[in-house]
Amino acid sequence: MIRINDNYTKLKTSYLFSDIAKRVSAYVAANPAKPVIRLGIGDVTEPLPQVCIDALHAATDEMAQRATFKGYGPEQGYAFLREAVVQHEFAPRGCHVAPDEVFVSDGSKCDCGNLQEIFADDIRLAIPDPVYPVYVDTNVMAGRTGANIDGRYAGVTYLDSTPANGYVPAIPSTPADLIYLCFPNNPTGAVATKAQLAAWVAYAKANRAIILFDAAYEAYIRDPAIPHSIYEIEGARDVAIEFRSYSKIAGFTGTRCAYTIVPKALKAWDAAGHEHSVHDLWNRRHTTKFNGVAYPIQRAAVAIYSDEGKAQTRALTDFYLGNAARIRAAVTSLGFSCIGGDNAPYIWVKVGRDSWEFFDLLLNNAQVVCTPGAGFGRCGEGHVRISAFNSRDNVEQALARIAAVLQ
Ligand code: PLP
Repeated sequence: MIRINDNYTKLKTSYLFSDIAKRVSAYVAANPAKPVIRLGIGDVTEPLPQVCIDALHAATDEMAQRATFKGYGPEQGYAFLREAVVQHEFAPRGCHVAPDEVFVSDGSKCDCGNLQEIFADDIRLAIPDPVYPVYVDTNVMAGRTGANIDGRYAGVTYLDSTPANGYVPAIPSTPADLIYLCFPNNPTGAVATKAQLAAWVAYAKANRAIILFDAAYEAYIRDPAIPHSIYEIEGARDVAIEFRSYSKIAGFTGTRCAYTIVPKALKAWDAAGHEHSVHDLWNRRHTTKFNGVAYPIQRAAVAIYSDEGKAQTRALTDFYLGNAARIRAAVTSLGFSCIGGDNAPYIWVKVGRDSWEFFDLLLNNAQVVCTPGAGFGRCGEGHVRISAFNSRDNVEQALARIAAVLQ
């Protein structure tokens, strides 16, 4: 008899965005004449930058010729992209990253979901609440979390992000081995200062732990004092892995390209206490289970590092931040307190009531979809996330509808 991985039975029954999709589809089916505006899921709406389109066309033409055709590429990514990442993303910020520490992949979701598998089953986890649900769920699947008791897994140290701490969690009083951090944060839009990240680096060093730093939204940081990379913090190369994605900087959510930095300095230990290179372990895992990102997609990704590409991606993120500023101003004028939207495409609104109830209120009365905070963790209750990913017209219409309902 074929048996399942019993850990899957510990997962909450459905994924947040499928729950939302079901409620929205039911509403649309019952109210076909009332168009819904989606400010819920964090998917981009604007087309790819022109530099990426041009690069995709040119690379497709290369694939059409015997002389320039490419088959399997290097699993870790083509050198042209790995080198450009170092030169344009890290060197200008004074971060030492080598091209062979850059692992190109088809998405940060896969990377932040897969990375845990190179670590032992009984490591101690510290995971923010609220946060992108992938960190918890992939550890549940791996059997590391224990049972779900009243909505929280017994084996996870939750890093509460609340109004009291400005939505940046405090260092836990107990040790952890694997720490997930996400700044700018999804869903709160909160960012961490250098001092706050330095405290996490010191904690990781003291515990011989590793930080998984998800910087999927770093391109939205506008405050010059906020670090874009954890490697801006001294010593982080010894304790941190960083995830970056082209999804939100260049609209690659459907195109799929990302990368993960695994420094060669990073160490972890086996059951006998012997030291291992985390870089070598990840390289082994990546080359065994992944066969590289398509050549035309990597060409499209590297195109954002030309002068034109930089201007186009900046215009794209500025556009979404323009939406975010309008959303933030509108919800603030309705009397809600909120954070995010200034260095992130998400606005986290304290609604002071059940978050699914507020979600239903906006859906049924304003035909606007937001994301209920409870779906991101216990501390998300009483909040909703509003996403800036939509056209200007839709955002303005949604805000007018919300004001009409809530004023
Ligand atoms: N990390 C965070 C925090 C995200 O919010 C998302 C997507 O919404 C991802 C990673 C996934 O990015 P990708 O599209 O590269 O898989």
